[in-house]
Amino acid sequence: MVVDLAADDDLYKAIILEHYSRPPHKGPLPEHTHYDEGINPSCGDEIELFIKVDDDVVQEVNFDGVGCSICLASASMLTKLLRGKTVEEAKEFRQAFKDWITVREPEPSPVDLDELEALGGVRNYPVRIKCALLAWETFEGALRKQSVN
Ligand code: ZN
Repeated sequence: MVVDLAADDDLYKAIILEHYSRPPHKGPLPEHTHYDEGINPSCGDEIELFIKVDDDVVQEVNFDGVGCSICLASASMLTKLLRGKTVEEAKEFRQAFKDWITVREPEPSPVDLDELEALGGVRNYPVRIKCALLAWETFEGALRKQSVN
């Protein structure tokens, strides 16, 4: 299932495709401290997040799973963008992305959303917003759980 973004969004499509086909941080992380699974039944997306928090900093975060291009590209962007942030910064970043993508005409985001801006086209397909947010909701869920180590 491919989202049909506007024709002039070729750069955004390329960014999404790059993360979808060559995610830099995919696969289980053996030494994770937090873990959760996220499922989006309306699309069939199923992802797992492995997070290693140390000193209140997201030292590493990997994802695994199957899903559509939007879901997996968003998950891959998460693993790149949240790495190195403090837990508090990561939570603020997640909230900023959610605020930005769930409104029809967003204000400029208070944080630099970087490659996530490539996902803005899903606003035209409200059912796909869940795909874009799945990894981020799963990240939040994982942090809420007790550390596994
Ligand atoms: Zn999806």
